[in-house]
Amino acid sequence: MLTVKDLHVSYGGIRALKGVSLAVNKGEIVTIIGANGAGKSTLLNTISGFLKPTRGEILYNNEKLAHRPDLIVKTGICHVPEGRLIFANLTVTDNLILGAYLRNDSKAIKEDLEKVFTLFPRLKERELQLAGTLSGGEQQMLAMGRALMTNGELVLMDEPSLGLAPLLVQTVFDIILQIRALGKTILLVEQNAFKALNIADRAYVLEQGRIVKQGPAAEIARDPAVRAAYLGSKSVAMKA
Ligand code: ATP
Repeated sequence: MLTVKDLHVSYGGIRALKGVSLAVNKGEIVTIIGANGAGKSTLLNTISGFLKPTRGEILYNNEKLAHRPDLIVKTGICHVPEGRLIFANLTVTDNLILGAYLRNDSKAIKEDLEKVFTLFPRLKERELQLAGTLSGGEQQMLAMGRALMTNGELVLMDEPSLGLAPLLVQTVFDIILQIRALGKTILLVEQNAFKALNIADRAYVLEQGRIVKQGPAAEIARDPAVRAAYLGSKSVAMKA
């Protein structure tokens, strides 16, 4: 579904991505784990068209992507950005409707809004509340819901668990599994390697702008170097 080939991205003199290649197949949850500054957000922002690579290409369903966020949303890629970036002075419902601003299928938009409210009953209870007054976890749900309103098939998620209390972190990862069950494909960027590897099918490890390891998530979670760097001494109970 998504193929990234030899991607190089720089901010002035800083080379944030140095030849990243990866693939995501339809229906998978693929995670990219890496420390602060490894280049995870840069990678997602480049796939979404906000940043232009200096080299390399990105294919979606075998078509080369233009570096245009509006066109990329239309092709079916949606992005849940780090820090959520919701509209604080708009209601929950208005934030969700804005997720669908490039669509004109009003009946389907209404149905998708109901689907989002079914997935996130907490948002339904707060549909007229100003988004800026939601808790951190609720804002994360809103950001995920807004991305689902684009009706995209591939969901890019940038650190959805960042800054959340442990109980809510688990909720967010449960929701990611539910989103996959709706038929979506997910590329998940996370610092919480333990949780991310636990729900993912495959994983890539990004270090200083380069992919240094890749494989089935369960295998990556067992890798001694990965465990030492990202999983501490925690014993990992992986899915079968
Ligand atoms: P984190 O987990 O801390 O969010 P990350 O893996 O998402 O980190 P990026 O945000 O992609 O990392 O940053 C990769 C590198 O690019 C870092 O060295 C960062 O300082 C640099 N960088 C990111 N954005 C900019 C920018 N707008 N201008 C200059 N350098 C930047």
